Order: sequence, then structure tokens, then C-alpha cells
Amino acid sequence: MRVNFSYLEQQFADLEPYLSDLRDFLRTSDFTLGKPLVEFENRFATLCGMPHAIGVASGTDALILSMKICGVGCGAEVITTPTTFFATVGAIVACGAKPVFVDSEEGFVIDPAKIESAITPQTKAILAVHYTGNVADMPAIMEVARRHNLMVFEDACQSIAASIEGVPVGSWGETASFSLHPLKNLNVWGDGGVIVTRSDELATKLRLYPRLDTLQAVIGNRLIKDVDWITNRRIVNAPYYDDRLASLGEFVQVPRRRLGVKHVYHLYILRVKQRDGLLAHLQQNGIEGKIHYPVPLHLQPAARYLGYKTGDFPQCESDCRSIITLPVHQHLTREQIEYTVEQIKAFYTKQRR
Ligand SMILES: *Cc1c(COP(=O)(O)O)cnc(C)c1O
Repeated sequence: MRVNFSYLEQQFADLEPYLSDLRDFLRTSDFTLGKPLVEFENRFATLCGMPHAIGVASGTDALILSMKICGVGCGAEVITTPTTFFATVGAIVACGAKPVFVDSEEGFVIDPAKIESAITPQTKAILAVHYTGNVADMPAIMEVARRHNLMVFEDACQSIAASIEGVPVGSWGETASFSLHPLKNLNVWGDGGVIVTRSDELATKLRLYPRLDTLQAVIGNRLIKDVDWITNRRIVNAPYYDDRLASLGEFVQVPRRRLGVKHVYHLYILRVKQRDGLLAHLQQNGIEGKIHYPVPLHLQPAARYLGYKTGDFPQCESDCRSIITLPVHQHLTREQIEYTVEQIKAFYTKQRR
């Protein structure tokens, strides 16, 4: 059996509805800032419960523009975590600012208790990442930010439709940035992104800078109607894995799930013993396991100038050695999940002997 990481083949198995939308659109010649883009932005804003959504060219652009427009630039420090995709940090650097790292906690999001000691007179903002589809502890982060008069931005690229106690991601920061990359929970046919904000002033300024291609918005309009279905499928698949793997506690650690958090499982990550052996075993048996990511960001060559060393962020570093990502997407079948669980069990049974 094959268990693929990507679901794009299934998502676009029937192209006809998309092509039909595109044909209708092409006849209008409404190519830039067209009606479908306005519709998409309105739908996206509604989805996030926010007054403004601005389409941009990528999630990375969403982050860069958000911070630039708020005055994050040379000389500023921005606090974030090394447990993220490199674009979070790349965006801070692209603004001319300095990334300052704080370790993550057990759920792969920034540990709010460790933020305060990283604050200096140069600190301007906290960039919280809702990594894996989990939600950073925003109430605690906002409290620290208020005490020190810092701005807060949300990197929500992996967490569309996630929430805490029903409060959706995007509700806390000056802005929140989303990605429409082909492998994100809501995607388009290439790169795309969205910024949401509560602020009329920021929305007006942001609209002067970027736009999402209206052609991509045509695709987005069709897929955004499926966001609830996509999210709910992932929310069914992840706890199913959690339950089925609970008996392997000696080898497999399922992360603690915070009460009240709607985790949307962009990535389903476990901490496991003999990670590299398990990954090879899964791949040999047709299961596309992955590692997000094997090298901590603060130890990457590009981050050397920041002066961090091994041991600075123990949680992140130990995670990089033990994490494995399993396919959790909306098109997985129960049989594929069962097969994956059986293969994991088979691997550890062999190790026990
Ligand atoms: C994907 C992603 C980005 C960047 O999004 P792009 O659309 O690929 O530019 C930024 N941050 C995180 C956490 C991401 O997962």
C-alpha cells in the first residue's frame, strides 16, 4: 500500500469544476484586483472572524509586509522560536531586524514563560508561530507583550481555522499571516498568501503594497468552501492515530493536546525512539513519513551570525532528533492509517526481539 504525504493528486482528480470557473473568469478579463479576488478576501475575512483580509503573493510576503508596515526594521529585535519553517525567521531578517530565539514547549509552539528573559531595550515585537496547526498560547503572550509594550504578529501559515476557546487565530496580533502554498490546508495553484487584521488603518496601508493574482483567487474561491471539511477530516485522523499508537508508549510519545485548543493538524508530529530507523522502515513500505525539520534553525549556517550554540534551546534540539511527521491529510483512508500504525508496530516489535 502507498501512503502519500501529498494529497494534490486526489484534490484535483476532477479538474472540470476548476477549469469551468477559470473559463468563466477568463471571459471577463478582470485580471488584477478583480471581482473574484474581492470575493475571496471577503470569504477569508469571514472565516477568520476579522474585518479585513488582504491577498498577497505568499505567506512569506504576508509576514514581511506585516512587520514592515508596522515599522519593524533595522535595529529592532523580534522574538520568535527556532521551532518553525525558515520563512518565519527569513521574514524578520528581510525586514532588516534581528531574530531573537526563545525555546518551544512540548506542543511545538513558543514557551511563553521563557519570553520575558529574551526581551531587551531593542525588542520591538513577538512573532508567534502557530506551528503544526497548534495554536501558540496567545493569552499568555499578549500579557507579556502588554507589560513590555511590544507588538505581536501571528504566523498562522499552518493553522487556518484553528482557535483557542473558539477565538480564531488572527484575533490577537496586529496582523496574522496565512499561506496558500499547494501543501497548506487551504491552497491555490502556486504561491499565495493572506494577511488578516482588525485595524482599518493597517488594512488601508497594506492594500497599497501587494495583491494576490485574481486567477489564484478563482481557485481559492472554490477550495475555501471546503475548509471546514478539510479541517474536520484532519481533526478526525489525528486523534485516531493518537489512540491507536497509545499502546506504544515505550517508543512513541504523542504530544499532549491542550484543552480548549482547536488544533488543525497541518502536520501530525510524534516524538519517537530510533527515529531514523523508523523513518527508513516507513519509507521502504510505501509510507511517506517526513521530518519537519532535522536541523534546528538557530544551528543553520545562515544563522551563525546570531551567535547561538548547541544547548541553547534544549526542547527544540531534542525534538529535531526525535520527531517524525506522518501523513494526516483529508484524503487519507482509514485503511491507510491502519496500515501506517501496523508498520510502526512491526518496526518496534522487531526492535524488542
Ligand atoms: C509555509 C510557511 C511560511 C511561508 O509560506 P509561503 O507561502 O511558502 O511563503 C511561513 N511560516 C510557516 C510556519 C510556514 O509553514
